Amino acid sequence: MKVDIKALVRPNIVNLKPYSSARSEFDGVASVFLDANENAFGSPLDEDYNRYPDPLQKELRQRLAELYTLDTENICVGNGSDELIDHVIRVFCNPSEDEIIVCPPTFKMYEVAAEMNDVTVKKILLNADFSLDVDLLLQSISEKTKLIFLCSPNNPTGNVVPLQDVKKLLNAFSGIVVVDEAYIDFSSQPSVIGEIKNHNNLLVLRTLSKAWGLAGLRVGVAVADKEIIDWMLRVKMPYNVNTVSQKMAIAALQNKMQVDTWNATVGNQKQRLLKEFGRYPFFRKVFPGEANFILVKVDDASRVYRFLAAEGIIVRNQSSQPLLDNCLRITIGTPEENDKLIDILNQYEQ
Ligand SMILES: *Cc1c(COP(=O)(O)O)cnc(C)c1O
Repeated sequence: MKVDIKALVRPNIVNLKPYSSARSEFDGVASVFLDANENAFGSPLDEDYNRYPDPLQKELRQRLAELYTLDTENICVGNGSDELIDHVIRVFCNPSEDEIIVCPPTFKMYEVAAEMNDVTVKKILLNADFSLDVDLLLQSISEKTKLIFLCSPNNPTGNVVPLQDVKKLLNAFSGIVVVDEAYIDFSSQPSVIGEIKNHNNLLVLRTLSKAWGLAGLRVGVAVADKEIIDWMLRVKMPYNVNTVSQKMAIAALQNKMQVDTWNATVGNQKQRLLKEFGRYPFFRKVFPGEANFILVKVDDASRVYRFLAAEGIIVRNQSSQPLLDNCLRITIGTPEENDKLIDILNQYEQ
C-alpha cells in the first residue's frame, strides 16, 4: 500500500514558504562571505566558529546514509531525536484536531511533544508481558489518527516490537508509523529501516545519544521515504544542528569499532548484573530486555531508590507509569560502577 503522504500533511505546512537562509541560497564556491552578517575575523577562542553551520547538514547526512545504506534524501538530523519527535508532530498533526497513539509504558517525550502542540494523545497500553496489543491498536485508529509511536527496544521495558507487528500496522494504517530505535544498537534484532523501501509511511528514529556516546552534542536522526523527509526539513529551524555537533558526529561515525567494543562490554556487564539481581530477594522480577538497561520490580521502589541515592547512585523510578508499579530502570554502567552498585545492593536490608 502506498500512502498519500501529502494528503496527511497539515495544510498550513503544505502552504508554508520555509525560511531561506543566506547559506542555503548559495551553492557555488565562494571565498568572500558577505551574505550573513557574521564576524569576518573569527571567534575569540582557539577555534573559529564565526560561520553559520551547514543548514542542510549535507556531509553528516551523507555519512549516515552510508551507515544505513540509503540515500542522503532519506535522512534528516535534529538537535537530538527529541526535536525530531516534535517535528513529525508539527508536520502531520493539526492542533486541537488530530491525535497520535502511544503505547505506555513507554518513552514520555511522544506524549509531552504532542501536548505541547495541542494534539490529543490516545494511549493503548501494552499487554501484561509488555508486548504490543496490535489488534486493539488497529481498532483504536480513527479518522483523526495521524501518527502511531512505537519504541523498539522499548524504553523502559526493553522489549522489541516484532517485525511482523510493525508490518501489520504499516499495511493497515494510512497514517505514519514512527518506530523509535534509540536502543537498536544494543539489540540482537534487526532494524526496521530495511522496510522503508516497501513502506512510504514508516519513519524510523535513531540517535547518537545512547550507544554512540554523544548525548551532550544532541544529534538525532530520522530515516524515511524521501517525501516525508522533505516535509520534515521544511519545519526545522535553519541551523538546528550546530557546527561542533555536525563535525564531531562525522568524526564519531568513523569510529564504529570503539562503539562495538563498548556494546560488547555492555552485553557482558548486563549478564553479570542479571545474575546478581537474581540473587536479591527484594528484586521481585527482572526484565532483561534488549537495551543498555535492566528494568526491575522491587518490593518498595522509593525505598530502594532512596537507599541507592544516599550512596550516590541514581537510577530511574518508573512507578508512575502504567504496569510499572515499584519498577526501577537501571542503566548498565562501567564495570567499576557496576561493582559499586552490586556492593551497595548487597548491603540493602529488607
Ligand atoms: C534517550 C531516548 C531518546 C532521546 O534521544 P536524543 O537524541 O538524546 O534526544 C529518544 N527515544 C528514546 C526511546 C530514548 O530513550
